[in-house]
Amino acid sequence: MKRKYTFLLIVIVVLAIVITLFFLLKEKKTDMPETPKKEEIIPEKYGIPLEGWTLYTDTVRSGDYLGTILNKYGITSQQIDKIGKMSTDSFNTTLINVGNLYTVFSDTTIDGVPQAKIFVYENSSVRYTKYDFRNQDTILIEKLRKPIDTITHKAAGVIEYSLWQTMIDNGYSWELALALSQTFAWTVDFYSLQPGDWFKVIYNEYYIEDKRIGLGEIEGGVFFHGGKELWAIPFTQDSITCFYDTLGNSMRKTFLLAPLEYTHISSRYTNARMHPIFHKVGPHLAVDFSAPMGTPVYAASDGTIVTRTYQEGAGNYVAIKHNSIYKTVYMHFSSFGTYNVGDRVNQGDIIGYVGSTGWSTGPHLHYEVHENGVKIDPLSFEPPPAEPVDSANMERFDKEKRKWIDDINKIKMPEKKAEKGIK
Ligand SMILES: [Zn+2]
Repeated sequence: MKRKYTFLLIVIVVLAIVITLFFLLKEKKTDMPETPKKEEIIPEKYGIPLEGWTLYTDTVRSGDYLGTILNKYGITSQQIDKIGKMSTDSFNTTLINVGNLYTVFSDTTIDGVPQAKIFVYENSSVRYTKYDFRNQDTILIEKLRKPIDTITHKAAGVIEYSLWQTMIDNGYSWELALALSQTFAWTVDFYSLQPGDWFKVIYNEYYIEDKRIGLGEIEGGVFFHGGKELWAIPFTQDSITCFYDTLGNSMRKTFLLAPLEYTHISSRYTNARMHPIFHKVGPHLAVDFSAPMGTPVYAASDGTIVTRTYQEGAGNYVAIKHNSIYKTVYMHFSSFGTYNVGDRVNQGDIIGYVGSTGWSTGPHLHYEVHENGVKIDPLSFEPPPAEPVDSANMERFDKEKRKWIDDINKIKMPEKKAEKGIK
């Protein structure tokens, strides 16, 4: 008899476990869209717990003043006067704009008129001003910011036509394309992306009250281009976070791949080319980047402006000395940037605008790189990278790197859309 009960007990326990497991797994499955579970939180607005309040929300209409609005909710003229007196140039308490939201927190009504105890005016989607009338003697006015939530997202895509098209096809924002092209600006030539190139990236987006307000930063990623996986691994040393490749070399090169956003290369570095104006064969020890008139041209690297002048052949031109080895030269500007001879420039500063001054047949930038006084090919020039990971930090870098590579590799490529194929 006893054994029978023991057996039954075992059966019940096993069944209970199986049922529990079944539901646990089921729950996990239905949980698929990875929404982080929210903890039980007390509902609040503008940091004020909602319990006990009745809220009245409206927008500022034309002709409304802060005073007239507050007056409708039982705030006396004396109190409105006080608010006016609390206003200063840097702390304006009365200025409101048509169309902006306001909310009245009330817990009593007098003759059917809700009495404002707290009044919140939204200066923008991020900032708000809180007027607290709960204390009879003093009005408390605070300018506050809504809390910004950072949510981490993952994205991946294969280039078919262009980076932009890939973004659109997969429902990513244009800002992500821009952020990608900035993160990988030193390692990927975005003008020569090929079908089959791909990327995987982890990035942040900012939200206020569940509303997306913009793209945060790229956390890390990989871009497959030119037959190579080019990694961007974030690492912090000396309290500065930069991107590094898998060996700990800085992703940032000391020189930009191209000092402008060009449309095409109209003339390469060669020892023999037919000159378009003089129709004579001669060397062209530079690269000509075609670009629309007025396209900004950037300093290819940090340095000092050593030339900024007009010359018959070169037109308006600038030369930058970067160090004892490198110098860069930019010709045919329509106009110059704000820097003069002797000024320090940082990589990316605008030194001029594409034009066609001098011996030129159309708007383009003639770009030279001088290495120890010799004009080298800017397109095959391998610029030295910025500072790598310090050897003292290498162990920590390796550990963090492995985690990033694992996480990024796990990102799944989006399914190829069937309807794009020919039926
Ligand atoms: Zn040229």
